[in-house]
Formats: sequence, C-alpha cells, structure tokens
Amino acid sequence: MLVHMNIYSLIKKNAGFEPYLETIAHKQHRQALTRLRLSAHILPIEKGRHLGIPREKRYCILCNTQEIGSEIHILSQCKNSIMQRWRNEMVTAAITHNHELVKLSPADQIIYLTLGHDSSTSALMGKYSYDTLELHELPWHMRGRGAVAYLSILNWI
Ligand SMILES: [Zn+2]
Repeated sequence: MLVHMNIYSLIKKNAGFEPYLETIAHKQHRQALTRLRLSAHILPIEKGRHLGIPREKRYCILCNTQEIGSEIHILSQCKNSIMQRWRNEMVTAAITHNHELVKLSPADQIIYLTLGHDSSTSALMGKYSYDTLELHELPWHMRGRGAVAYLSILNWI
C-alpha cells in the first residue's frame, strides 16, 4: 500500500540521471530534496527508527491525527495548517508549469514532483522540501500557525 511505502523505494526505480541536481539552483533546497529522496532526513518515520520507536508509533509531529510521519503523509496528506498552505501554493504553482499534474491524485502529484524529472517544477519541490524539513526543526509550539511568522523572521520562507 502506498502509504506504507517509503519514497525511496519508489524513487529507486527511477534511479539514474537526476535532472533536478542541475535545475535547482538553491543549494539548500537541492539538498533537502535529495535528503527526502534518500530518506536521509529527520521526519518521524526516520527519526523514530534511529530512536528505536516501533514503526506504528512514529507519529507525525505536525498534526494530531496519529498518522505515521512518513514522507507521503507529511508531503501530501498532513492536516497541519502550515503544511496545507505550503502544499496548496506549491502544487498550484507546479500545475501552472505542468498542467498534466491535475490528472494525478495528491499523493501521486507529490511522488511525481519528488522524482525531480520535471525541470519546470523541481525548484518548487526543492523549496517545499526545504521548508518541510525546517518546520520539523522548530519547537513543537511553533509548528502551527505561528510558524510562518517565526520562519519569516529567520528568512527561511
Ligand atoms: Zn501530519
């Protein structure tokens, strides 16, 4: 089932030339997308593994739904208000570059964008990846609506 798949297992099938490495000019954004693609990140699904937390208890730290904090949940399904806003903005902008995206489900849109094969949208996905990872670094009380103001002060968004 898709929600139990790790993004890397999907990405792996598409290994080879990585156009996004050339099309995302912003180094930190490029690195963030690479981290997500390789599961080399601090989202709960990976962080919990390092902490020895059983997989079914590696909950998302951005919403109260007790969903597993996997890449797919956080990037395409999480109900955190900031994530919803960033996701809507990113996907809306991506669709203006590639209208074919409207034909995909929200989860498939994110998977497609994570593949980084589309040079017109990879910069958008790079920034979204970076912001998502940064949001996880904030103290828990800053991950809600206050996060936008806080991150703005730090020039992260
Ligand atoms: Zn969530």
